[in-house]
Amino acid sequence: MSETIFSKIIRREIPADIVYEDDLSLAFNDINPQAPVHLLIIPKKPIATINDIQEDDRELVGHLYWVAAKLAAEMGFADDGYRTVMNCGENSGQTVFHIHLHLLAGQPMGWPPYSDKRKQA
Ligand code: AMP
Repeated sequence: MSETIFSKIIRREIPADIVYEDDLSLAFNDINPQAPVHLLIIPKKPIATINDIQEDDRELVGHLYWVAAKLAAEMGFADDGYRTVMNCGENSGQTVFHIHLHLLAGQPMGWPPYSDKRKQA
């Protein structure tokens, strides 16, 4: 897969507001936050989209959710609730082709998350 900005963040070639790192993953603040808390949790292994997740990656993808829960507990919003989102492909609005879990928190959120552009039935 081609290089993305997230690989550069992992290698510290461009700055990011990193809040967590371990052998498998990195978490940092989204540059364009959509909620009072908006983190991105990414695997260090570059995987372009959910469609590219292989059998060997199952534990790695689960690890991203474990990091989300750990950060939610440590940052104090686990009990209030939060949203995790992983976009896939054009219709979802994915813009960076290195999978990432959005972790959104800090206020009540609407559901469903359709934009006005959705087709009406
Ligand atoms: P998605 O639309 O699901 O691909 O989400 C990509 C996210 O990456 C967006 O929410 C962007 O605001 C965020 N983003 C892009 N570049 C950076 C960056 N350099 N540092 C932090 N977040 C970024």
